[in-house]
Amino acid sequence: MSCASGPSVKTTCPYCGVGCGIIATPQQDGSVEIKGDPEHPANFGRLCSKGSALGETVSKEDRLLYPEVDGRRTDWDTALDLVAEKFSSAIAEYGPDSVAFYVSGQILTEDYYVANKLMKGFIGSANIDTNSRLCMASSVAGHKRAFGSDTVPGTYEDLEQADLVVLTGSNLAWCHPVIYQRLAAAKEARPHIKVVLIDPRRTMSADIADLHLAICPDGDVALFNGLLDHLARTAVLDRDYIEANTNGLAEALLCAQSMAGNVVADTGLSREEIDAFFDLFASTRKTVTVYSQGVNQSSCGTDKVNAILNCHLATGRIGRPGMGPFSITGQPNAMGGREVGGLANMLAAHMDLGNPEHSKIVQSFWQSPDLAMQPGLKAVDMFRAVADGRIKALWIMATNPADSLPDAGAVEEAISNCPFVVVSDVIHSTDTVRHAHVKLPAAAWGEKDGTVTNSERRISRQKRFLELPGEVKPDWWHLAEVARRMGHDEAFSYSGPAEIFREHASLSAERNDGARDFDIGGLKAISDADYDALAPVQWPVKSADDLSDQRFFAGGNFFTPDHKARFLAVSNPDERTRDADHPLILNTGRIRDHWHTMTRTGRSPRNSSHMGEPYCEIHPADALRHGISEASLVEVSNAQGHCLVRAMISTRQQEGSVFVPMHWTDQFASSGRVDTLVAPETDPVSGQPASKNVAVAIRAARMKIFGFLVSRDKPDPCWSAYWALARINNGWRMEFALSDADLNGFVEAACGKPLATAAQRLTSDQPYLNRAIWLESGQLDTALFTASQPVAVSRSWMVGRFEASADERVPTGLLAGRPGVDQPDKGPIVCSCFAVGANQIRAAIGEGHRDVAAIGKATCAGTNCGSCKSEISGLIHEASPIAAE
Ligand code: SF4
Repeated sequence: MSCASGPSVKTTCPYCGVGCGIIATPQQDGSVEIKGDPEHPANFGRLCSKGSALGETVSKEDRLLYPEVDGRRTDWDTALDLVAEKFSSAIAEYGPDSVAFYVSGQILTEDYYVANKLMKGFIGSANIDTNSRLCMASSVAGHKRAFGSDTVPGTYEDLEQADLVVLTGSNLAWCHPVIYQRLAAAKEARPHIKVVLIDPRRTMSADIADLHLAICPDGDVALFNGLLDHLARTAVLDRDYIEANTNGLAEALLCAQSMAGNVVADTGLSREEIDAFFDLFASTRKTVTVYSQGVNQSSCGTDKVNAILNCHLATGRIGRPGMGPFSITGQPNAMGGREVGGLANMLAAHMDLGNPEHSKIVQSFWQSPDLAMQPGLKAVDMFRAVADGRIKALWIMATNPADSLPDAGAVEEAISNCPFVVVSDVIHSTDTVRHAHVKLPAAAWGEKDGTVTNSERRISRQKRFLELPGEVKPDWWHLAEVARRMGHDEAFSYSGPAEIFREHASLSAERNDGARDFDIGGLKAISDADYDALAPVQWPVKSADDLSDQRFFAGGNFFTPDHKARFLAVSNPDERTRDADHPLILNTGRIRDHWHTMTRTGRSPRNSSHMGEPYCEIHPADALRHGISEASLVEVSNAQGHCLVRAMISTRQQEGSVFVPMHWTDQFASSGRVDTLVAPETDPVSGQPASKNVAVAIRAARMKIFGFLVSRDKPDPCWSAYWALARINNGWRMEFALSDADLNGFVEAACGKPLATAAQRLTSDQPYLNRAIWLESGQLDTALFTASQPVAVSRSWMVGRFEASADERVPTGLLAGRPGVDQPDKGPIVCSCFAVGANQIRAAIGEGHRDVAAIGKATCAGTNCGSCKSEISGLIHEASPIAAE
């Protein structure tokens, strides 16, 4: 039950690492009004399409509301006693390393802190890892190698103050949209700002790029080594900075020089493109290099990070306004997890496992009976240990490894065979939760209370504005209650998140004389009331009135023993093996309006309107070669697994490579789990999987019938070879396709409608459109279209029939699946905030509106969150390539 129309609450977006501030206002009818917080320094009021649709995600549908054991509801005591008993008995019989926690960048810092303290300080194992391993572990490892600490030196402001912003392995426009908007606005205000996009794909971020380098996968080390060599040859090195603050340049440079002659071959770029980039970098002092998953998710991710850091250290472009390397995290609290030590190779408060001094500090602070001394299992290795039986009891919190880890099929099997699995989650049915012996209902966004840290080290409050439904409890409480039942009552007797935060802040300051970067000791005595009202604050906060420099390393002072940064000699990765049967390179990643495994955005009609099904983006030449046509179905496969997804043919994709998004699960599509294709290969330093460079084959999937269905009730799609479900307002939409074997009886199974006479016609192997419509009390209930080729109806118009007012729901044209000639067909949705389609934007372009602002005035598209501006720009470009140059 939601609070009755409550006061506005300032909180934080639960999606990406930008960490935008939100003002949430519960309404009388149970809905929630969402606005950007104009005072939050991350977004100054902006929100992207995901953040602004958060109000559509807070329903209680499919929520896990009560504890369950073996699929049956139980009480909290029974569930918690069982968890404590199973973990204790596994530890007693097989030792502390026989148990593991797999947590998430979605949980709050306070939850993370308690999980880490229990595992590393009281169970005595470091077997706690997080889905952040899949996101930014290579950045952490690269930072630690170069700086001696996991420090992000800069701030978001630097992107606005720079004269050159290099985006490498970062589709900022879709993955961190508000930072992209800030950069785009800065470029508009100061048009001389140059943007270079380094990405194998021409992503939507190319819209503001002056130069796009379509680098070959994993060519980044070669490119940045080539740049280092160029900077040395052109005397752009900052010799004073290097001399005073760094070590190891000679070795790094020697390595870079040895590779410089092959930079064209190693990057796949032309000499002219490379020279243009090198000259721009060399001549622009105020440079920021933004990098993200395209750099991190690689078998050489850590080396890529260090190749980038080398160039910034060599030019002294670090920690000063408008200068620096900038790792942007994927998740809302990846940084908070790093701060508490939520990775298996870290201790707590940025202290190191295996460092005797750090161990002493943490052990005495926690009064720990059995502190872990060695690193634990990183994510991929952890699930290998689950598979081979070393892990006897596993606790998964707020994440869905059955879909998101590489070799996802094997991971799901391992979870299903693990002797004891606990899942703390919000959702009752995910591909992971279905295998849990014990399900613990956790607080969702809107019900949580604690802090998160964004990519620029800014700690913000995530605050509760909805009551906890059913018997839901926060994650920290699940952990503390189990810890107490395992005999650690005193150390886990927390009254609430404020007390946990104070302890976390105190630990950060414990015997910290400036030797460690993470210090929020200024907040260790914060009162409950001040914690509740805590305004976003960037660390370090060494004392209560600390207004210290928000950037690190302009004057050196690195966290290495000699306070000097280390250059790393990094060479090209080994060539990845390709075989003739799997000639294409698969790249995986996010799309604009969905998030992770869609447990939240999949509930939102608005978020589901942009991309309604999983797809494979293919270059036209590859599509032609494989006989694949637009909107047909394509099978993507390798020895690991296979996906069946919609073909999207696009020159944004490089020839020889394909892209499939990471979001679809068995809950939303028949076979859209792209991580079933990703091998469990990891970076040897960071343990981060290589999710962007996977060898695959593609082939056209031959289907007998293609179909499209909109329905008030959720269809049961188990009858078709291919299906993809998406939420719409007041119902569902579904794409499907039938093989020969699926034809019998699909209509009744699909819709539960008596339609024997029509069934034959709907399954007839004809190119023309067959259709059937059901009305209930004169209102549209279900509409079904089939053909022997991809169904050509106006999806947005059909979806709109469920949104229209009651007396408009059965208009003429319904059977045609598109509006009559007198009504416009908006086409595929581009602007999800105002449901503006591509056809409407094309019409506005045709009327002479030739820039994004003019299109916005004419159609409203792009005038709310702005996430679609780059796509609008793409349509303008398509319509008039010369004018748009
Ligand atoms: Fe949320 Fe979008 Fe801001 Fe990321 S950019 S925090 S998804 S509103």
